[in-house]
Amino acid sequence: MKISFNKVARSPSKVEFSDKDGLHIGGTLLKEGVHKVHFVSTITGDISLTCDRCGKDYKDSLNLPLDLILTDQVQKVMEDLDTIELLDGIIDIGLLMESEIASYRSNYHYCQECRQSEEELDIEY
Ligand SMILES: [Zn+2]
Repeated sequence: MKISFNKVARSPSKVEFSDKDGLHIGGTLLKEGVHKVHFVSTITGDISLTCDRCGKDYKDSLNLPLDLILTDQVQKVMEDLDTIELLDGIIDIGLLMESEIASYRSNYHYCQECRQSEEELDIEY
């Protein structure tokens, strides 16, 4: 799903997209300035992750809230870490979802069992 930056309205408009893996993104686009679009959304769906502790693959139910600023200009100063530059002026919702999931994957993840043993450790000490 692609939306031209220039076509985003100054009143909130709903966007929804599902990819072939059943991941879903839903939210609103709102133009806040000539070169600024505010995108608030949530990604939901199941992804497979690899546990950073025991190395086991496991499924995780995503419920990932996003609060992003999109701009079609080069940012001289990165005021906001959640600013995304879209220099071709095209908002590709599927691509945004993909890159947010990729950065979610790059965080540390523990499977259910490791999370549980972690909690037990917390109680012990
Ligand atoms: Zn684990």
